[in-house]
Amino acid sequence: MIPDERSKAGLCLDRSGFILHRSVPVTSVMGCARKTRDRVLNGPRLSAAGIDSVINRRSKINMKDQNCIFCKIANGEIPSRTLYEDERYRVILDLGPATKGHALVLPKEHFANIYEIPAEWAAGAMEIGQKMAILMKERLHTDGANLVQNNGETAGQTVHHFHLHIIPRYKNDGQRILWKPGKATDEELDAIVSAMK
Ligand code: AMP
Ligand code: ZN
Repeated sequence: MIPDERSKAGLCLDRSGFILHRSVPVTSVMGCARKTRDRVLNGPRLSAAGIDSVINRRSKINMKDQNCIFCKIANGEIPSRTLYEDERYRVILDLGPATKGHALVLPKEHFANIYEIPAEWAAGAMEIGQKMAILMKERLHTDGANLVQNNGETAGQTVHHFHLHIIPRYKNDGQRILWKPGKATDEELDAIVSAMK
């Protein structure tokens, strides 16, 4: 890790820092996120009030959970195979990889899930996920990637510290990270739109 590089660009993925800084400048990603949010807020279909109530919800920061294994890994108390680290996040290799290079983006603060993590931290995790996926394409010769994030036991979350899976995909890797498509009537779809306003 090169400290000057990190402070210059805000992020540094490996010793060279090459891909990260060249491919996806942080500012452009943040600009995109802002534009997307503005589009959502100003768009005709969603009421600003509904989305605002979520965006304005904030969790406490500076939290660690003494009993949380990912808090310990993220903060270096338990060793891990780390692909990237900065002030807020650590990216580690998953010990039960779905495919070669399966990695997890861990915030260094404890947020249980998407309902608790501040939007800014969630956006930061996705930003790193994007950079990792780009780097994996180049270094591991991946053919694609699934970025997966589970919330709640019903959704398959087993470790209750927010984490973003980066699952590299290779042709014929034999994995399936898909859902079974269902059916919905017009009434059911309309009811959801109404409920979300
Ligand atoms: P989830 O089901 O979304 O909560 O994912 C938890 C992931 O964490 C699984 O893919 C596990 O293989 C992985 N995992 C659990 N413990 C560790 C650990 N100590 N180091 C690395 N990965 C872990
Ligand atoms: Zn934790």
